Amino acid sequence: MAESRPLRKVLIANRGEIARRVLRTCHRMGLSTVAVYSDADEHAPFVREADEAVRLGPAPAAQSYLNVDAILDAIERTGADAVHPGYGFLSENAAFAKRLEERGVIFVGPTAATIAAMGLKREAKETAERAGLPVVPGFDGRDDGFEAAAGAIGYPVLIKASAGGGGKGMRVAAAPAKLRDAIEAAKREAMKAFGDDALILEKYLQAPRHVEVQILGDGAGRVVHFGERDCSVQRRHQKIIEEAPAPNLSEGMRRGLHDAAVRLGEALQYRSAGTVEFIVEGEHFYFLEVNTRLQVEHPVTEAIYGVDLVEWQLRVAAGESLPEAFSPPSGHAIEARLYAEDSAFLPQTGEVQRFAFSEGLRVDSGVEEGNVVGVHYDPMLAKVIAYGADRHDALRQLRGGLERGVVLGLHTNRAQLVDLLDLEGFRTAALHTGLVADLTPRTFKHTARAAALALLHAERMAAPRGLPLGFSNHRRALPPEFFTLGDARLRVVMEAGRTAATLCVSNDVEGEANSTDASVFQLRALRWSDVSIAVDEDGHRYEAALARTPTHVHVHVLGEDHRFELTPRFREQSSAEPGAALSPMPGTVVQVRVSVGDEVAAGATLVVLEAMKMEQAIVAEAAGRVTAVHVVEGEAVEGGVLVAVVEPAEG
Ligand code: ADP
Repeated sequence: MAESRPLRKVLIANRGEIARRVLRTCHRMGLSTVAVYSDADEHAPFVREADEAVRLGPAPAAQSYLNVDAILDAIERTGADAVHPGYGFLSENAAFAKRLEERGVIFVGPTAATIAAMGLKREAKETAERAGLPVVPGFDGRDDGFEAAAGAIGYPVLIKASAGGGGKGMRVAAAPAKLRDAIEAAKREAMKAFGDDALILEKYLQAPRHVEVQILGDGAGRVVHFGERDCSVQRRHQKIIEEAPAPNLSEGMRRGLHDAAVRLGEALQYRSAGTVEFIVEGEHFYFLEVNTRLQVEHPVTEAIYGVDLVEWQLRVAAGESLPEAFSPPSGHAIEARLYAEDSAFLPQTGEVQRFAFSEGLRVDSGVEEGNVVGVHYDPMLAKVIAYGADRHDALRQLRGGLERGVVLGLHTNRAQLVDLLDLEGFRTAALHTGLVADLTPRTFKHTARAAALALLHAERMAAPRGLPLGFSNHRRALPPEFFTLGDARLRVVMEAGRTAATLCVSNDVEGEANSTDASVFQLRALRWSDVSIAVDEDGHRYEAALARTPTHVHVHVLGEDHRFELTPRFREQSSAEPGAALSPMPGTVVQVRVSVGDEVAAGATLVVLEAMKMEQAIVAEAAGRVTAVHVVEGEAVEGGVLVAVVEPAEG
């Protein structure tokens, strides 16, 4: 058994959700914490939540989270005696672990030697094979025998970067003619991403499952497992939904996987938490690789085993031995990764304006409202984890939590995660790595309703406090508002009645409403705040969450997210429509001098606006008849708003 070493202050060499997650356990255990951060993360919650925080450098990872010298300086400055690397960044960097070892600083993970041994897929596969684990039929790429090997194994084949990770440097070759291109492309990508272009070749299994086993070792030869996780739901060879235990596995297969993982862990004298990854096809399983660190999806294992894996990483790092036995698992847990990405799985950036999930789920998030998701790091916003008595129970909770969850301000995969959980293949646990291809583009049901709510909300927020909807005896027609949605433009017209508003949403075609496709909503605002509005729609009550920027309005309603670009009021229309009188700047209407039907002379004052403590007259450009008045006395208006229309006199 390793001797026990004092562990008092832990530096977390990572960011985002995993930094926060490690902090939580450290604090619960009574350990002091140090965060390190880049300039981009200055306002991130993990920086504030740590006892101390040290700036590493500018945003690019090479200058901050991968900057070993800066991290060593931070250790020196704060007197941290241990480093938790999280996942990604330096977590599987043997040179970093070695430098810590040399300084007598505890690396919360395996030894540098283990990391190095498992860091390259080629060597890891060889080690696994020696330990008696089945590996995918393949070729080690040590000489240029790719063609012959592929021919012998049979197409399709998969080319992988030996140093690879995160799905990078992987290429499928479906036929001999495609092999050279796949090799060249994988080589280039591997060189760029890992500085090492060694490749291996494997038989490409058509629809395998990804199943992995969580292990924990004491570094002295004892290794235990915490069951398996299924992580088959992937896009771009990267996981998005994971669960534990893996459903639909025979007990024989399950035991075989556990035994194989422990056997390899023992052969490595594994220390700390690690994951042995396999692919499963039919009744066969094959070793893929070992991740020598905490895995993103570790919470599903924690949920069913009632164990804190970070706590055990820290205990083992401090030289504690493992207990005789851990409690057996119970129940089922599913995790969904919430990303800032579009429906084509491309990373998105933006400001998180609203972030709210209901209680009862574990939400490990790295962001809070006001944080900006930039281009420098992985765009994962949070992990949402549900735990239930069985798979059905966990699935229902996760689906509901994601459906009700509000993330506004940037494109996310929130709704797509719901669609994934709804796939027949997922519900029936017919899992395989190609499941994502079954997704069909989402059809939105509430686009018009969301636009109507956006306008009603704006109107309610702008109305003087307590002013009822229809505060005059006349029904008040507000000027139409335009929302741009991709190529389409929506025109929303609101007429405020005594208690309810009628909102008519139609497609706008060259400044004209297309009345054949209009949707009409009768809405009564029940309650509202700057980020929400609860309405009654003909006796149907529901609530929407909103976020507004100068250019966009985001609406979450009935499980859907809508993001409209605001079209400056009437700019286009005003030039098109003769006789349009606009407010020159934001202000308050102090007087309305005309009514519909009045004949006015050129230069006649239509409306008096108070702006910047001065009164401004809005006048008729030409003589004519007033055909519309869009403001009332006391109303606050933005600049460029149509206040009245004077139809020019004939001739
Ligand atoms: P990385 O280290 O880049 O994450 P892995 O070797 O762990 O790469 O593989 C990632 C994913 O790619 C797996 O979960 C699986 O979906 C797919 N994959 C890997 N090897 C094969 C294979 N031989 N056949 C089919 N799919 C594979």
